[in-house]
Amino acid sequence: MKVIIVGGVAGGASCAARLRRLDEKAEILMVERGPYVSYANCGLPYHIGGVIDKESSLLVSSESVFRAMFAIDARTNCEAIKISPDKKTVELRNVSTGEVTTESYDKLVLSPGAVTVRPPLPGIDLPGIFQVRTVPDARAIREWIERGSLFLAGMHKYSGFQTVRPKTRAVVIGGGFIGLETAENLVHRGFDVTLVEMLDQVLAPLDQEFARVVEGYLERHGMRLALNDGVAGFKQAANGVIDVETKSGKTYPADIVILSLGVRPDTALVKAAGLEIGERGGIRVDDQMRTSNPDIFAVGDAIEVKDFVTGQWSLIALAGPANRQGRIAADVIAGRDSRFRGTQGTSIIGLFGAAAAWTGASEKTLNRIGDKDFEKIYLYPNSHAGYYPGARPIAMKVIFRKSDGRLLGAQALGEDNVDKRISALAIAIQMGATIYDLEEAELCYSPQFGSAKDPVNFAGMTAANILRGDMPISHWESAGKGLLLDVREPVELAVERAPGAVNIPMGQLRARLGELPRDCEILVICRSGQRAYYATRMLLQNGFKARNLSGGMLSRYHALLLEN
Ligand SMILES: Cc1cc2nc3c(=O)[nH]c(=O)nc-3n(C[C@H](O)[C@H](O)[C@H](O)COP(=O)(O)OP(=O)(O)OC[C@H]3O[C@@H](n4cnc5c(N)ncnc54)[C@H](O)[C@@H]3O)c2cc1C
Repeated sequence: MKVIIVGGVAGGASCAARLRRLDEKAEILMVERGPYVSYANCGLPYHIGGVIDKESSLLVSSESVFRAMFAIDARTNCEAIKISPDKKTVELRNVSTGEVTTESYDKLVLSPGAVTVRPPLPGIDLPGIFQVRTVPDARAIREWIERGSLFLAGMHKYSGFQTVRPKTRAVVIGGGFIGLETAENLVHRGFDVTLVEMLDQVLAPLDQEFARVVEGYLERHGMRLALNDGVAGFKQAANGVIDVETKSGKTYPADIVILSLGVRPDTALVKAAGLEIGERGGIRVDDQMRTSNPDIFAVGDAIEVKDFVTGQWSLIALAGPANRQGRIAADVIAGRDSRFRGTQGTSIIGLFGAAAAWTGASEKTLNRIGDKDFEKIYLYPNSHAGYYPGARPIAMKVIFRKSDGRLLGAQALGEDNVDKRISALAIAIQMGATIYDLEEAELCYSPQFGSAKDPVNFAGMTAANILRGDMPISHWESAGKGLLLDVREPVELAVERAPGAVNIPMGQLRARLGELPRDCEILVICRSGQRAYYATRMLLQNGFKARNLSGGMLSRYHALLLEN
């Protein structure tokens, strides 16, 4: 059996290596248009920033390793230019020489990835405007930055020599994860960074109140944000500076511009071959990665995938799914019955020592598709036992089905161990777990790593309290009329008050129940919702109508961010 694999990075390389492990006899040809196979594109922003200093560290494998270790004919600078499904052939062009050859296949796997969105804006090809997609892209950016501070520009009349002014101003266009990672790395390199984003928030998959927290954090670390503003064009100004002009009429001068406007599936080859394209513009495949032609498979950023939670087709450009899909295609070609479960978009981004992570459906996605059968909770547990040094709060939002408790999505922000909580919730979502399962999850614990009630358990317990009717809740944005009861200590009120709230500290509540009305709803708040839960239980058992305002004063901060 001869298998040709187009694309030699995440999905393609995983497929090739897996196929060899399953079939020692298969003839495997893997072609890659670029100069490297199996390189770490996820590391590119950190190479630009100098965290990963050597370019060679990004090159995970090479053609020769593929040949020696796996007997795979890996060819770089080799582009597939035409697929003929009826003849089962692929035309290949040697990028260096232009020579075209034709290879036949029994099975073809396509992992061509995505192309960077590059709208035809005036001036978009000016020198100094870059994208971050490949190793040569990162190299060009590093060279551009270094040239600015090192090169001798000419002879100065007085001093005798003159150097080019160091590059100091960067404009990053696009607030997705590649844009933000690159922006952070440019800040570390001493740049004054402006981030221009057309949407009214960074990190589009996050719900807006969480994105607002990220935005505040970026600004505190010196980044300037220009949200709700699209780029209109670029002009060459004096001294090699590029003026970035936006649709609102603003101009941001830049020594370097990074375009990070998102990606779209690379489907050029597939369209020409007449294979089916889905409603979101990606290659349509079944759960075994088969395209509309049973001998042609497709994986990675180029395909459409079923969203595991919403069941809708979506485009997810992430390395994990691409690698898993590559393995599945290899399994199926080798005769195994592997299937892709769909994806839930589990992601994380590190920014200035903190992390934002998410998995599954967001509140805005559920609202967009008209799904009303969900509830959300906000919680702010410590990353590990509070008495052990270094514990940091994690802001979490967990979304679940009201009708059956199924976990639908989660988002988290924090400076410590955000990843392990979202990873645990991600696998729970994939297993179809409910919030009752989270209550029972047995997770690692010792004081420096977690708590006897881990944030994941805590989320389950809080949500289960709601569904069991033990703790009716409300949210700041939807809180109706009623008495706002603040059960914090007076000293806490000195820091921040909830306007209009009556204060009865938790410790005095039992003795002062007579001060509370029985004819209206009491909305109970504290700092994070925990004491308010105790108070809500007490009030309910004493015949009051009470609700806990989820997340207390901490989630009020989110609500205020949205109002502002
Ligand atoms: C800067 C950056 C940072 C990222 N960070 C993360 C991260 O932190 N976490 C995460 O999950 N994901 C991250 N990603 C996304 C992740 O890298 C991709 O989702 C993943 O690489 C997709 O795998 P793929 O095989 O579909 O495409 P790719 O890995 O992009 O590989 C496709 C390859 O196919 C080649 N090709 C295309 N057409 C042809 C042709 N006709 N002939 C021959 N070769 C062809 C291309 O040259 C390309 O090298 C990042 C991506 C970038 C660019």
